[in-house]
Amino acid sequence: MPDKNLMEKIVSLAKRRGFVFPGSEIYGGLAGTFDYGPLGVVLKENVERLWLRMFRDSRDDMYGVDAAILMNSKIWIASGHVEGFQDPLVECKKCHHRFRADQVDLSRCPDCGGDFGEVQQFNMMFKTFAGATSDSGSVVYLRPETAGGIFANFKNVVDSLHPKLPFGIAQIGKAFRNEIAPRDFIFRLRELSQMEVEYFVNPSGWEQAFEEWRKAMHLFAEAIGLPSDSVHELEVPDTDRAHYSKRTIDFEFDYPFGRKELWGLAYRTDFDLDAHQKGSGVNLEYQDEETKEKFIPHVIEPSFGVDRTLLAILASAYREDTMGEETRTYLAFAPKIAPVKAMVSPLLKNKPELVAKAREVRKELQKVHSAIAWDDNGNIGKRYRRQDEIGTPFCITIDFDTLGETPNLKDTVTLRHRDTGEQERLTVPEIANRIRTAIE
Ligand code: ATP
Repeated sequence: MPDKNLMEKIVSLAKRRGFVFPGSEIYGGLAGTFDYGPLGVVLKENVERLWLRMFRDSRDDMYGVDAAILMNSKIWIASGHVEGFQDPLVECKKCHHRFRADQVDLSRCPDCGGDFGEVQQFNMMFKTFAGATSDSGSVVYLRPETAGGIFANFKNVVDSLHPKLPFGIAQIGKAFRNEIAPRDFIFRLRELSQMEVEYFVNPSGWEQAFEEWRKAMHLFAEAIGLPSDSVHELEVPDTDRAHYSKRTIDFEFDYPFGRKELWGLAYRTDFDLDAHQKGSGVNLEYQDEETKEKFIPHVIEPSFGVDRTLLAILASAYREDTMGEETRTYLAFAPKIAPVKAMVSPLLKNKPELVAKAREVRKELQKVHSAIAWDDNGNIGKRYRRQDEIGTPFCITIDFDTLGETPNLKDTVTLRHRDTGEQERLTVPEIANRIRTAIE
């Protein structure tokens, strides 16, 4: 069931606590753009780092690139984007509002009831000019997907590192799509981030690689804390698949506004490298060292939208409950991706000995992770609520018992758990261990 109310609460919390701000807000905004604030940027980095760790750094068959966003337009001609990266557009004859023809009831305009004109094809690439001239020869496009930069560097990676098939190239970066109807907060943006892999295989090995990536994508969903029953596979039927794709699975997520595409996994055959070989005139074949066979590798492409991932994380982490007499809101982030891992607090801020001890404890815990916050404002309950709302898994309080007021509690501190509100009395090394284990 779509939950509009939940979406409003997420958008409002995201803004209030510095996760996501509307783009260009002080000038009235710019549709389809959002800015990540101080906490959002860290959440995003944590998700990207985890992705890089799982899919690039911990594997011997994966390599990274960071290609330029602006590329020679011939790349987008060869890939078919200049010709075919388009959505069907309709315009209402009365109010002139524009809609995606495949997302609207074409019998009448949902905004004013007017009639629609003819359906037209609208190319979604942003076009600009490189250099001081603005003739057709200087047209460049903002990349509509990061994949193009990977294919363009296939030969460079092969020539410089000599990887053996199967191997993959991973890249994280911005992509731009002039969406007709950006909507649903950071779900459909005009400026977005993608984490993409092009995994090159011998054509005979595509099914095995496809299956491995399918499983790996579920493992990533689990690692970032998405409940397994909210992620669904949709086998895209032949009629809806791109002509070059032999198999595509959409990974869908139960967003508050309905079940929608989160990530995609596609078997793209040799379409891309073959197209770039023809387009560039450069040989992009791979030679098998043992058999000496030469062929164009086939490609499995797992593609992850960063922003859609963050929205799925926010939606599944958002919780409300009653604690004490009060209703509280908290974000049940997996500790691995939580922007702040723990908050350290002296019970009273006007007692220098408590503050000094708390500073010492914070320094000690920062040896485990740098994102250990400090808060000495207001009463302890308020400090806990503030951390709950930003998803901090642990709060640590230093009190007079820590200093030895109750001798058998000396050097112990209170560890408070975000989700249950439960508190334990532990030593600082024990807490360091807890944090270390939770974020591993
Ligand atoms: P949709 O059908 O929702 O427009 P798509 O099938 O065009 O998406 P792909 O081209 O497969 O999307 O892009 C790969 C991934 O990039 C998507 O699975 C999604 O996570 C992300 N993505 C695509 N378009 C957008 C967008 N406009 N805003 C945010 N993320 C996007």
